[in-house]
Amino acid sequence: KTEMAPRPLDASKLKFTKTTSPMSVPQPGDPIIMTASQCTDHMITAVWKASTGWADPELRPYGNLSLAPTASVLHYATECFEGMKMYRGFDGKLRLFRPDANCKRMLVSSTRISLPAFDPAELEKLIKAMIAVDGPKWLPKPGTFLYLRPTMIGSGGALGVATPKEATLFVIATFMPPLDAPTGMRLLASTNGVRAWPGGFGYAKVGANYGPSLMANGEARARGYDQVLWLLNGTVTEAGASNFFVVWRSKEGKVQLVTAPLDGKIILDGVTRRSILQLARERLTSGQSGLESLEIVERNFTMDDLVDAAKDGRIIEAFAAGTAYFVCPVAAINYKDEDLDIPMARGNSGDYAHLVKSWLTNIMYGKEDHEWGVVV
Ligand code: PMP
Repeated sequence: KTEMAPRPLDASKLKFTKTTSPMSVPQPGDPIIMTASQCTDHMITAVWKASTGWADPELRPYGNLSLAPTASVLHYATECFEGMKMYRGFDGKLRLFRPDANCKRMLVSSTRISLPAFDPAELEKLIKAMIAVDGPKWLPKPGTFLYLRPTMIGSGGALGVATPKEATLFVIATFMPPLDAPTGMRLLASTNGVRAWPGGFGYAKVGANYGPSLMANGEARARGYDQVLWLLNGTVTEAGASNFFVVWRSKEGKVQLVTAPLDGKIILDGVTRRSILQLARERLTSGQSGLESLEIVERNFTMDDLVDAAKDGRIIEAFAAGTAYFVCPVAAINYKDEDLDIPMARGNSGDYAHLVKSWLTNIMYGKEDHEWGVVV
């Protein structure tokens, strides 16, 4: 008997089953939007089995999944996901922002938890197919976005701690509450818990990184802060589900944009982080922006370094960056019961955060033609 090679994920085999009961699109201000639970009419699903590989993907009506109570994901957190947005440009076109980066990161994440491999380009095609169907109806208004959540779970039913023999990939699109942090994000530096550690999985976008962070996040909220600034032995890593940046004047007098490095595999390789670093290198290092030139630095720095800089008046601004909260100025950081006040030159933002945010917005909504803004 000859064994067939497991089939790869193949977007060209996508089967379409359109909904016969289309839902109504919530209008701005509808409370359902605040719950981030309203999805669009359709979803993509694709099932993988160890014996046969990927079955033909399907675009089908949005609806519940059916899982055995023994499914791997329900017991061993064999789950990874992505977070990206589709944007309705001011030119009327639908765009994704660097979708190739999200799809590649999804493969990094799935590999870390023994979920199956796939060609990221095929996932990108599936995401685009879904947008082509739901985008026109669900995202009509220029300057708005919907959130996309590609996810993979170990869906096979069998207890026993083992590499999943079956997996389900799905892509859904949801509404998200509008972004409004007009006063700047307030961060509580974590002094009694870590998010990630050397040899762990902080670099992977796996559900197992998020559930256990909710307790610290709840404590931060209860104390009047918006997010946790995650530390590892005093080193600053990330802010909530965003990467953290500070602009400061070094002791030697150089203005630097500083963020934690990727090499320890502790932090997530944020698409927003990468994009800010690249744009800053291209546009902020030689005075062409009207702001003082920056040195761009990816290196470890500690909370004590931040405290020193604040005491010396060397902090210029700080911000968090990620898909969900986008570029969000930081107003305060609490460390060991003391608040560091972070300057915000424009009142509600620093100048550098304001500038990089406007550059990214222009690419996302088609005001600047750029290879990162991928028209669907
Ligand atoms: N860090 C963590 C822990 C995150 O969950 C996210 C959101 N994906 C980010 C950083 C920012 O990544 P991105 O810019 O790709 O959204």
